[in-house]
Amino acid sequence: GARIGILGSGQLGRMSAMAAARLGYRAHVFGPEADGPGMQVAAIRSVADYGDAEALRRFADAVDVVTFEFENVPAATLAALEGRVECRPGLRALSICQDRVAEKRFLESAGVPVAPWQEVTDRASLEAALEAVGLPAVLKTTRLGYDGRGQAVIRTVEEARSAFARLAPHPLVLEGFIPFTHEISAIAARSADGTVAVFEATENEHRHHILHRSVVPARVAPEAAEQARQLVARVAEGLDLIGVVALEMFLLPDGRLLGNEIAPRPHNSGHWTMDACTCSQFEQHIRAVAGLPLGPVARRCDVVMENLIGPEGLAAWPPLLGRPDVVAHWYGKGEARPGRKLGHANFLLSQ
Ligand code: ATP
Ligand code: MG
Ligand code: MG
Repeated sequence: GARIGILGSGQLGRMSAMAAARLGYRAHVFGPEADGPGMQVAAIRSVADYGDAEALRRFADAVDVVTFEFENVPAATLAALEGRVECRPGLRALSICQDRVAEKRFLESAGVPVAPWQEVTDRASLEAALEAVGLPAVLKTTRLGYDGRGQAVIRTVEEARSAFARLAPHPLVLEGFIPFTHEISAIAARSADGTVAVFEATENEHRHHILHRSVVPARVAPEAAEQARQLVARVAEGLDLIGVVALEMFLLPDGRLLGNEIAPRPHNSGHWTMDACTCSQFEQHIRAVAGLPLGPVARRCDVVMENLIGPEGLAAWPPLLGRPDVVAHWYGKGEARPGRKLGHANFLLSQ
């Protein structure tokens, strides 16, 4: 079968590689971690740095198409690959989603409203941003943040100054703090011929800025859930993306939705699709990347996904194994460090 190159060897790459194998493809995983969750299940491995030009050339020549499992693969890596092999998604989508400022500009241009925001590059622009955005606010690094790292909630001007001192010299963005009633997300798959299929909207609960639980159907007004699906479809089309893309959103008390961030790849809040749909987000992604038609997005039952996070996740896992209503997934990570995503469980509920 065709050879699908995957940049990155985390759990998203692992589950993508497993979906690829089931469809008869070989996953060739490229990344620096020799024993990452994705490397463990790869049909072919390239253990190399993302800046290793020679290894990238060999990888490009050994695969039919390239995708990535996280958006912090260096843009230069994808740029080096793009001339030699088809990359899905491509450099433009990756670049937009690596940078919160580019991402917000894109969302606005695609008709997805976002929180008030201002770029912060120095003390003067911090003061100007505080004036424009108001308090409370959230100061975030524009790049490389995840699970709430590289951000600070700010309630006073003094907190703003100390957060700035801590987060600078990285480029920053100040966002208005949104008093959301719910966090929701939606995932769209877009195939090579431009067909878009959107999974049902998901309600997400975070603990310590890390996704704890996703609930489907989301306990929100049906109009909001439908609007969420429409917004992510706009994102998929505006990015001209082939693959899957997730849009994280805030639901306001008045029913409006604001876009928070985009993940141009399978997303943790879509893990419920593995056991509650006939075609998971990972299979949709591989289908799109490989040029196959997309699959159905219908949901077969209500479902709750819970992340198994270190260290407690280690003890939570064995008791789940005997339950007929639970499908548990484990990522094969070495250490159960605090805050580390070790696996997840899908609780299948009757309709
Ligand atoms: P991820 O792991 O999802 O990539 P991240 O570190 O990139 O996370 P965000 O998604 O921007 O960061 O923020 C993490 C969480 O912090 C959000 O899910 C939300 O709960 C809270 N948060 C972020 N921005 C705001 C905001 N402007 N107003 C209110 N809460 C916010
Ligand atoms: Mg993020
Ligand atoms: Mg987020």
